[in-house]
Amino acid sequence: MECTRCHGFMAKERLYDLLENDGQFYVGAWRWGSRCVACGKVSDWVIEQNRQIAAKAVTANQRKGNARNEEAGAA
Ligand SMILES: [Zn+2]
Repeated sequence: MECTRCHGFMAKERLYDLLENDGQFYVGAWRWGSRCVACGKVSDWVIEQNRQIAAKAVTANQRKGNARNEEAGAA
């Protein structure tokens, strides 16, 4: 697997979700992810899902901003 940021090697790594940890040990809070050995970028399916949601939100906000600018320019 190749890093999308720097094209470095992505090593598999076990990740622990601290937000799911309320002082108890949950086996389900552990999951496999990957870390770039060159730049340190960490990625797993939850992180990628959140990045896609954030990218869509930025795009939607940019569209709204462009619509407002067009309206202001027309007035
Ligand atoms: Zn990298």
